[in-house]
Amino acid sequence: MAFKTDIQIAREAKKRPIQEIGEKLGIGSDDLLPYGHDKAKVSQTFIDGVQKNSNGKLILVTAINPTPAGEGKTTTTVGLGDGLNRIGKKAAVCIREASLGPNFGMKGGAAGGGYAQIVPMEEMNLHFTGDFHAITSAHSLLSAMIDNHIYWGNELEIDTRRVVWRRIVDMNDRALRQITASLGGVANGFPRETGFDITVASEVMAILCLARNLEDLQKRLGDMIVAYRRDKTPVFARDIKADGAMTVLLKDAMQPNLVQTLENNPAFVHGGPFANIAHGCNSVIATTTALKLADYVVTEAGFGADLGAEKFMNIKCRKAGLAPSCVVLVATVRAMKMNGGVVKADLGAENVDAVKKGCANLGRHIENVKSFGVPVVVAINHFVTDTDAEVDAVKEYVKGQGSEAILSRHWELGSEGSADLATRVAEIADGESANFSPIYPDEMPLMQKIETVAKRIYRADEVLADQKVRNQLKEWEAQGYGNLPICMAKTQYSFTTDPDRRGAPTGFSVPVREVRLSAGAGFVVVICGEIMTMPGLPRVPSAENIRLNADGDVEGLF
Ligand code: ADP
Ligand code: MG
Repeated sequence: MAFKTDIQIAREAKKRPIQEIGEKLGIGSDDLLPYGHDKAKVSQTFIDGVQKNSNGKLILVTAINPTPAGEGKTTTTVGLGDGLNRIGKKAAVCIREASLGPNFGMKGGAAGGGYAQIVPMEEMNLHFTGDFHAITSAHSLLSAMIDNHIYWGNELEIDTRRVVWRRIVDMNDRALRQITASLGGVANGFPRETGFDITVASEVMAILCLARNLEDLQKRLGDMIVAYRRDKTPVFARDIKADGAMTVLLKDAMQPNLVQTLENNPAFVHGGPFANIAHGCNSVIATTTALKLADYVVTEAGFGADLGAEKFMNIKCRKAGLAPSCVVLVATVRAMKMNGGVVKADLGAENVDAVKKGCANLGRHIENVKSFGVPVVVAINHFVTDTDAEVDAVKEYVKGQGSEAILSRHWELGSEGSADLATRVAEIADGESANFSPIYPDEMPLMQKIETVAKRIYRADEVLADQKVRNQLKEWEAQGYGNLPICMAKTQYSFTTDPDRRGAPTGFSVPVREVRLSAGAGFVVVICGEIMTMPGLPRVPSAENIRLNADGDVEGLF
């Protein structure tokens, strides 16, 4: 049987005008700022006005350690949102915006898949409402102002060897990773080494996604450390006097974007921080707004639950005062097989033993999520190639863990395929059995926070860190940053720092290579292993096949 591609399905969508989608959540057309017919921003005035509403229930979608293709978290988030609406609940979904760069590298979008997608998907994956361009502009303004400050006499006494603020562009361009700027003579300033990161890796992105309002946004922008002096004291964005103008550039981008699912249900798509050096979930303002307007809000965290759910709970929920009512852990038969030792090329063949072996990975994630005090249900995101025996093996294993796994066929069938999952999730959320709390307190020393995550979530024996790293953490504690949460950056493919160690490994240590302070976003980034902040394009980038067809439609993107 041949299946339609994501883009074919998306193009056939019977979209409703965005005002109709707004109405479903009680947003009047005056409070929607339309970007064309099918996208709108929700006005800040409206958001201010609904703060007294009570909150709906928050449902987090996360996953086991994934295969390189992704496990269908976004697809399941969208499918579950539609499923909840189908069974008569007022539900909205909240997901991240897409980064432009990767779209021209590897095929694959960020709007879900099959019959569980958000539309307009081409636009969501391209320029959308311009938020990422605004972030690139605000970031670049600060970059320019720093070098300009140095050019005009460097009153702040910035050590030009210690400018930590880099430049950004929303493209995969490895040639820019490390550059020498200000070449070409006196009029161009003082030559110095710097480099580019991709837009989603900017601290401005992380801040936009954690700020509660414009005032908070400006304060956090001002708090960013951009450079150090010779005596190692920090220079802040506030000292450069960039925070005001940056806030002006970001004021529209701060308002969440409303779009719709294929089944015309409301979806907020807003913000998209990297899931390694940042926390990897959509904006706080989109989530908190959705909670004021819907009874159930389904949202996603990037990567597997060891990274995504951990940061969602320990960073986003802690900082925004959110508490999830239920966690949906997405598992696929193919990822289970991979965790059971099968290589990618052999994923197509039935292999119940490998599925059983890989279940250990799922089991550890179930325990981990429960340790935050939140009930968990496993969603088996059904692929048409899965066999009944493989699916049953997963269900049986999960039952043995005292939890339950529900087969969901939203990719193939839309909400008809996810109604069972939705019914169970609603029951769990309504049962109010959650008793959420982050797994470490604010006041715990930074090194101990790292050890807590490494031991309790990854199940490592120990954390390895040089004296240099330990001293750096102590220094930040002395400067008043000790109460910040930590943001772990490691491979998403394993509980360990080695991407090839799948399943549920034990007997390993977690080496910390470097720590970085994101003082504006409000976390300490802990880098374990090689972390890329500027991706490259593959040998044959998908851009080579992207074009407009005779009807003016985009071809080759998905
Ligand atoms: P994640 O959010 O976990 O990265 P996505 O939901 O974006 O994953 O899905 C990754 C890719 O897998 C997408 O191209 C999507 O269309 C595809 N996909 C997801 N679920 C299924 C499924 N059940 N059957 C076939 N393809 C799927
Ligand atoms: Mg996703």
